[in-house]
Amino acid sequence: MGKAQVAIVIPVYNEEENLPELMRRLLPVMQGMGKSFEIIIIDDGSSDNSLEVLKSFTKDAQVKIVELTRNYGQHAAILAGFSIVNADIIITMDADLQNPPEEIPKLVRVMEEGNYDVVGSVRKGRKDSFLRILPSKVINIVARKITGVSMRDWGCMLRAYRNTVVERMIQCHEHATFIPALATVFAKRITEIEVEHEERYGGKSSYPLTKLINLQFDLVASFSDFPMKLIMYGGILMSFLGVCFGIFLAIARLAYGAQWAAEGMFTLFAVLFVFVGLQFFALGVIGEYIGRIYLEARKRPEYVIEKVHTESS
Ligand code: UDP
Ligand code: MG
Repeated sequence: MGKAQVAIVIPVYNEEENLPELMRRLLPVMQGMGKSFEIIIIDDGSSDNSLEVLKSFTKDAQVKIVELTRNYGQHAAILAGFSIVNADIIITMDADLQNPPEEIPKLVRVMEEGNYDVVGSVRKGRKDSFLRILPSKVINIVARKITGVSMRDWGCMLRAYRNTVVERMIQCHEHATFIPALATVFAKRITEIEVEHEERYGGKSSYPLTKLINLQFDLVASFSDFPMKLIMYGGILMSFLGVCFGIFLAIARLAYGAQWAAEGMFTLFAVLFVFVGLQFFALGVIGEYIGRIYLEARKRPEYVIEKVHTESS
């Protein structure tokens, strides 16, 4: 099959209940656009029946299923899809139908008319729990700060990328990446449109709070050295305050005598604890970066494709 005009890349992790409905809604939308298209769905090591359901979709020549060897996470799965995609405009979306497929033509139209490199999307009236929305708000603020791009909603995966941006992203070979942020490194013309948001069709979200906190750290540590800087400045401030405190103690001792200073012993302990705590924190952050260097140094692949299932295989 030659190069398609539009491709959809969808990561799947335990979504068997949603897949038939996804295809039922997605196919007419794609056919209705009157463009050549391909649909790439990545099975990110699902433990349910998702892979079997997906394989049955390959009776359609436009559908390719990428089977990964295990669960690598949503963003690595999307990268695996990017590695085999062959289209001018590449759209990512979730498999749980929270992103309505009916919004795809709008993304494509905006991209073509404005000649954009990336078209992001903002979820109108987001249908998620408060506990799921709050971490997203934090992620949005952090992502805006470190990329310097003022997109409002970074978590919404319904996004369109130009093929040049996708090609550069797969050349990065980055672990623990965050695709919407990575794309901004290579995209010049970026815009954002509003899209509808729906409840999850079936099953439940695979992002508990712990995974979201990890994602947050990935985002900060992969795209900036802000935590290290924070510690450096914090350290400088701390030693400055320490010196001031020392001078204060010396003066107080001269003014009030040794008696007073001995009774101030416990203050010193308190100060010591603050310092020790800070040191541990600093060590932890340094460890985090060293861990990343170790990961990169090992050159372990960020995903491994077991097989690509197509109509003919
Ligand atoms: N997903 C994945 N690998 C994972 C976790 C999630 O491929 O390890 C997929 C999942 O199947 C879905 C998308 O990523 O298509 C978004 O996941 P989810 O709906 O659980 O996240 P939320 O909507 O809560 O952000
Ligand atoms: Mg979802």
